[in-house]
Amino acid sequence: MKEISYSSTRGDKEKYSASMAILKGLASDGGLFVPSEIPALDKSLAELSEMDYQGLAYEVMKLFLTDYTEDELKKCIAAAYDSKFDTEEIAPLAEAEGSYYLELFHGATIAFKDMALSLLPHLMTTAAKKNGLDKEIVILTATSGDTGKAALAGFADVPGTRIVVFYPKSGVSPIQEKQMVTQKGANTKVIGIHGNFDDAQTGVKKIFSDKEFAAELDAKGFVFSSANSINIGRLVPQICYYIYAYTRLMKEERIKEGDKINICVPTGNFGNILAAFYAKNMGLPVGKLICASNTNKVLFDFFESGTYDRNREFHVTSSPSMDILISSNLERLIYFIAGGDAARCGELMSELSGDGKYSITDSEKAGLKDFYGGFADEAQTAEQIAKIYKASGYVIDTHTAVASYVCDEYKKSTGDNAPVVIASTASPYKFTRSVMNAIDPEYDKKTDFELIDDLAKISNVPIPQAIEDIRSAPVLHKTECDVDKMKDVIKDFLK
Ligand SMILES: *Cc1c(COP(=O)(O)O)cnc(C)c1O
Repeated sequence: MKEISYSSTRGDKEKYSASMAILKGLASDGGLFVPSEIPALDKSLAELSEMDYQGLAYEVMKLFLTDYTEDELKKCIAAAYDSKFDTEEIAPLAEAEGSYYLELFHGATIAFKDMALSLLPHLMTTAAKKNGLDKEIVILTATSGDTGKAALAGFADVPGTRIVVFYPKSGVSPIQEKQMVTQKGANTKVIGIHGNFDDAQTGVKKIFSDKEFAAELDAKGFVFSSANSINIGRLVPQICYYIYAYTRLMKEERIKEGDKINICVPTGNFGNILAAFYAKNMGLPVGKLICASNTNKVLFDFFESGTYDRNREFHVTSSPSMDILISSNLERLIYFIAGGDAARCGELMSELSGDGKYSITDSEKAGLKDFYGGFADEAQTAEQIAKIYKASGYVIDTHTAVASYVCDEYKKSTGDNAPVVIASTASPYKFTRSVMNAIDPEYDKKTDFELIDDLAKISNVPIPQAIEDIRSAPVLHKTECDVDKMKDVIKDFLK
């Protein structure tokens, strides 16, 4: 197997092993780690279709995480994808109204972030052992709602780690907030910031590149890492489920080996769809990657114009996990379409942090041909939930509805009728009020927990354990802070 190393998207030439890249989280120059190449699958899709999720995940991840031994990687995978998931399939496919919904929300916190964050703590503690790290790892995380809980659930009480989560105090759903502030575990800390997700993410990135602070903490026996999708250890596990979905369609004889499928992803930080792009570049037969945005359609505008411009009004929507104006993982795509020219990528990223915008050249733009951008506004998102429910009885969450709408619009406007796999990123139970109101505005009169019971009735889907757990759980985290005080809160927690 070919050894894969990791280096920065911004020009820092230093090369790291997979395990070191996972431990570091972010490159020293503020760039993101990218693999030296995207490896090709070394098993046929027919062979992969005979495997279960865990087996397939190993075959994909071994190609990227080349310094982990077979035994290490298999142990991590077995510990991640176990009975925390409520189905042995891990990521089942559901068909509704002519599309396939890849349900990525069967893990502990009922959003797709569990797919990677069930695994990351194991990859990280294994990496610490392999590399003889004797420091306590402090995971710093900015969340638009779902990463926070999934990371907390993954790292709570994991020896040798602590986790600090910053979420926008007024920018997450009531259930998302309740899930986070009820988190148990002495090594956990949850803070509501007075700002939006971009403020939280920018704050965390700043703390990461603060060399003085790092030295101060190093002296106290701590080292920072990240559970955000800027960590390559988040991205790699996400590649697996697209390949898995393809092989399930083969198994069910919906497609033949080699048939092209399209993949449609509700997008925020660009991690999930980038994983699909990597899967395509590993050899998965994928036509278009359909990038669906909500009203914060900075990515749609980028695909249209070649200019990324974050200088715009920020909208709080019913799909809060996509309320993002700085899509971090797009940097990895920019690096790719710039032909691996890290200096060029670094230049564009410094324009982004300076002027809040950058433009790519026509030849770079040609590198985006695999992508199709679309968006759904609030009314279209709600209508899509009602439409799918009324036609099929299937209930989708607000994020998935954005993708579902854009998928239908793509089919209509292009006439491309290849099978589409839609990434279904959250359980409707996580956004119950928005979902139920979309189906019938009369529901708005009810309390959140009444709505949960009603959702169970109309969808025939049992209430997930994650929801039962928060009904009576006490609030354990009450800290709030201003954006410029994030560092102080961390210092206090690590005292
Ligand atoms: C995080 C999240 C997204 C966006 O995924 P990215 O990888 O950030 O693009 C979409 N939907 C839900 C429910 C999420 O939690």
